[in-house]
Amino acid sequence: MNPSSPDRPSYWYDLAGLADSTEAIRAALPSGVELLYAMKANPDPGILRTLAPHVDGFEVASGGELRHLAEVFPETPAAAFGGPGKTDAELAAGLAAGVRRFHVESPTELLRLDRLAAARGTVAEVLLRVNLPLPVGEAVLVMGGRPSPFGMDPQDARDCARLDLPGIRIRGVHAHLGSGLAAPGAASVARTVVEWAVAELDAGEVNVGGGMAVDYADPTARFDWPAYGAALGELLARYPGRTLRVEPGRALTVYCGRYRAEVLDVKRSGGEWFVVVAGGTHQFRTPAAKGHSQPFTVLPRERWPYPFARPVTGAGPVTVVGQLCTPKDVLARVPDAAGLPPPGRIAAGDTIVFELAGAYAWNISHRDFLMHDPPEFRTGVPEHRPRNL
Ligand SMILES: *Cc1c(COP(=O)(O)O)cnc(C)c1O
Repeated sequence: MNPSSPDRPSYWYDLAGLADSTEAIRAALPSGVELLYAMKANPDPGILRTLAPHVDGFEVASGGELRHLAEVFPETPAAAFGGPGKTDAELAAGLAAGVRRFHVESPTELLRLDRLAAARGTVAEVLLRVNLPLPVGEAVLVMGGRPSPFGMDPQDARDCARLDLPGIRIRGVHAHLGSGLAAPGAASVARTVVEWAVAELDAGEVNVGGGMAVDYADPTARFDWPAYGAALGELLARYPGRTLRVEPGRALTVYCGRYRAEVLDVKRSGGEWFVVVAGGTHQFRTPAAKGHSQPFTVLPRERWPYPFARPVTGAGPVTVVGQLCTPKDVLARVPDAAGLPPPGRIAAGDTIVFELAGAYAWNISHRDFLMHDPPEFRTGVPEHRPRNL
């Protein structure tokens, strides 16, 4: 008897689709708006290379991301270096690498950066990250306007702008005030930030952040980039000569990624069905991190290599879990098997393809927990290929 082992779990990145969708986003933004990619969403080198022709640069948020970017693009410095808690060594590495804009998160960080720049005989180009109050009633997951470790209070930003520091040139304002923002909410946040930055600091540049909405319950929904671009165009018309910048992560890359895992087992427990895949949240942490059910499709497989009955889901709730010894290893829940994607049932040996796995997925996963082999990485869209047995 030959032992039968499931396919290795795999990530699939549709780079051609990513190039097309990013080009469309770029085209929806007016020419005075720069598009950066927040690479913490997914720093995969193939993804960065695919994005490069369609974006104005990359936002890094650590010394490690700075080094990674320099390995992928030795000639291109980071467009922006953000993130709370930058060490002196990271700031110095940013200066040495020619980072175009430092997003400074506190008055103390500004003074530290000034000393380091002055010691090098250079000037750091800075945007002050401001935590602004937003108009109440925004139906968004708001990070700004309440006590926060990110950015500085408006009064601290005004005080910073008045300092005369030889190592610092303040170019304007940065804000990243929410995530999960649909276009009307994102446009309203952008208006608030730009109005404040121009009125208070006469900012020449305003980076209004990322956080554009991704709807995990509807994989076909997209952020309304044309409406958002039109709103930014109105701001540019009101404040001519200024540069606006956006730095999305998730909304650029999430759609290009898929995580594929083979079904090892299907079993019933207390009237519910559990589908166990070879894989799990140690490789694809997104559903556990966000507390949602990940959308998926099923690729049925004809062959079943064993001389006994193949288990398959029946009526009732279905929970798709991974290989970890923890009840938190849940990838998807379907309240009733009638709601399963085609063919409406899942059998052992089938393959499940989780959608929307191109951002905050592999790179946020606790990959060493239980020490399973890592997934494979492929380019393209997974299709059903019968396994050679
Ligand atoms: C994480 C982050 C982003 C990107 O956020 P998305 O929700 O992925 O678009 C942009 N700017 C800053 C400062 C961030 O921390």
